[in-house]
Amino acid sequence: MQNSDNIDNIIDRVLFSQDDIEEICQRLGKQLTEDYAGKFPLVIGVLKGAVYFMTDLTRHMNVKMQNDFMDVSSYGDGFESSGKVRLDIDVQADVKDRDVLLVEDIVDTGHTLKFMKDLLNKRGAKSVKCCALLNKTERREDNVVVDYYGSKVENAFVVGYGLDYLNAYRNLPYVGVLKPEVIQANLNR
Ligand code: 5GP
Ligand code: MG
Ligand code: MG
Repeated sequence: MQNSDNIDNIIDRVLFSQDDIEEICQRLGKQLTEDYAGKFPLVIGVLKGAVYFMTDLTRHMNVKMQNDFMDVSSYGDGFESSGKVRLDIDVQADVKDRDVLLVEDIVDTGHTLKFMKDLLNKRGAKSVKCCALLNKTERREDNVVVDYYGSKVENAFVVGYGLDYLNAYRNLPYVGVLKPEVIQANLNR
């Protein structure tokens, strides 16, 4: 990185601009408003990646809802899913008999989503659906349904708008692909 103060310098190319993301939130929000009308859903954002998407998306959902969060981790080394998913922070709400909507930044192998859906179903949720900003369908390993998503995305490591690299760059207002040299620099550290 040449100028460490300017975080845009780590981006190779932008895949989803701020306008693209706003359009996605409007479209999904409208759909979810219809599908959850009269249902009082429990909307659970998956920390920390879904925080930006959750706040923008739910502002386009014109339904009475409750918001909660949970944190799960599966990424051992920053890029590859280990396949083992761990619950780090649980939801506060009782999910029994609730219509749960999980909000995710991206579904990749599907291990994380499968783990969360199984857990919430086991606890007696009435329904468990997922709305993800991005869907990396090429890498799916678990046969899990992504009920709603903003866009499919190519098989590349993306950052921004909640998505991190080594827990940084979440605050970029768009989604882009990291420059290969940024990854290389960290591998050589
Ligand atoms: P999965 O269990 O579906 O393989 O992985 C889900 C989680 O891995 C996502 O919630 C996200 O935190 C992380 N992840 C997957 N692909 C990417 C990516 O391209 N960029 C970033 N920053 N995180 C990713
Ligand atoms: Mg995540
Ligand atoms: Mg991550």
